[in-house]
Amino acid sequence: MFVTVTDIKNYVYCPYIVYIRRVLNLDIEPTEYMIYGKEIEKETILLSIYRTIRGTRILKSLTLKSSKLRLIGNIEYVIIDKYGQHVPVDVKWCESREPRKDHRVQICAYGMLIEENFKSKCKMGILYYVSRDGGRLHKIYLTSSLRRLVIKIINDILEMLRTSQPPDHVPREEQCMSCPYARICNFKRA
Ligand code: SF4
Repeated sequence: MFVTVTDIKNYVYCPYIVYIRRVLNLDIEPTEYMIYGKEIEKETILLSIYRTIRGTRILKSLTLKSSKLRLIGNIEYVIIDKYGQHVPVDVKWCESREPRKDHRVQICAYGMLIEENFKSKCKMGILYYVSRDGGRLHKIYLTSSLRRLVIKIINDILEMLRTSQPPDHVPREEQCMSCPYARICNFKRA
């Protein structure tokens, strides 16, 4: 059994999303917001990130898997910098001024998959937020605490999948208000 990087990101936002998707096998139609996010001009942004970090090569649409981590993920872009380091890049539509925890963990999980598959050290990833007032680039360092968190979440999700038990989690109202799964979720706080 494998956990996906998307599961990890969702779990940090709210573990019930992973329960809905992986245990109940339910999913949702993409909302306008999600579709809009997919229509960002990612390649133009990617080029500017490539210049900023002095890239030498771009890898696209990688599906990476690690039996050791029990993890699988689709990475849209990896830039190889002038030091030969692989830098995962994620471009998202997001209004937050600071990098969100679920997105930081997602980048870290990508980096750990890269290390397993390319046998190279991944110290940093790039999170680029596109928002109404412009773009923001965040460097996300793969600290040991972030790595430990990824491992813990993988184990928590595997346990959930093994037992099919719903998470012991009290969602916050503001989480539910902006959650795309609120339409089908029985656990939300109104
Ligand atoms: S609606 Fe609330 S409880 Fe349900 S998945 Fe979303 S955040 Fe979690």
